[in-house]
Amino acid sequence: MKINVLYRDEKILKIMIEDVRLEYINSLRRIMIAEVPTMAIEDVLVLDNTSVLYDEIIAHRLGLIPLTTVYDRYGSPEGCADKELASSPECAVRLYLDVEAGENGYRIVYSGDLKSEDPDVRPTSDRIPIAVLGRGQRLALEAYARLGRGKEHAKWSPVTVAAFKYKPIININEDLCVLCGKCVEVCPRKVLELKEDKIVVLNVLDCNLCKSCEEACEFDAIKISWNENTLAFTLESTGALKPEQIIVESTNILEKKLNTLLQFLGD
Ligand code: SF4
Ligand code: SF4
Repeated sequence: MKINVLYRDEKILKIMIEDVRLEYINSLRRIMIAEVPTMAIEDVLVLDNTSVLYDEIIAHRLGLIPLTTVYDRYGSPEGCADKELASSPECAVRLYLDVEAGENGYRIVYSGDLKSEDPDVRPTSDRIPIAVLGRGQRLALEAYARLGRGKEHAKWSPVTVAAFKYKPIININEDLCVLCGKCVEVCPRKVLELKEDKIVVLNVLDCNLCKSCEEACEFDAIKISWNENTLAFTLESTGALKPEQIIVESTNILEKKLNTLLQFLGD
């Protein structure tokens, strides 16, 4: 297997993987979405809420705030499933919030107003709105975050995007092409361009394999196909974990599953 990094930043990773089976990458993709654990708020104790929002709505909004995640100090989702343990220091991080709007105006409560007892578990962004407080209104609460998995609730999924596609192959037969430009016009991704005396492919990875260009060409001069052993994979993290951590953790989980299967088969 050969891997080329096409793009990388704190949250996004785009890679080209050659000589790989689709089934393997799809297994990893599904594990990334549903099984790689992250921290998210699960229990909320509302101390004071004079806003217009019900406690339940605020709790729901808090649950959906992505939190930076560490694995080494908190119990696994399965180990902490017991309600008694769920808010214990071995399983949960306590966050608290106490905001009051002044008598002279309103105040937006943001994720940045949440104070965490563990500085490594905190909102990935300080600018996520939770509620708008009117004059004199107050919101005070305690929240408990624990590790969970996306298959239990989407709030624990570490990814906003985990998707792949085959590497497109665009063949233009210059002997048949009359440079009418119809393929350029219909392409929804602006992949093609008419340059002087030929059609050029600007970025083959932008092609979504829709084949509109093929259908528009009256001269059979353009053919779209794909390489089944080369996949372009895009991963976008919520910020809970780095993209590289999500990949490593998903391969660990897949390995454990395969070992369990082998044990069963061996018995
Ligand atoms: S539509 Fe066909 S003939 Fe026209 S420019 Fe494109 S490839 Fe060439
Ligand atoms: S297959 Fe679709 S996206 Fe790709 S080049 Fe043709 S029209 Fe553009």
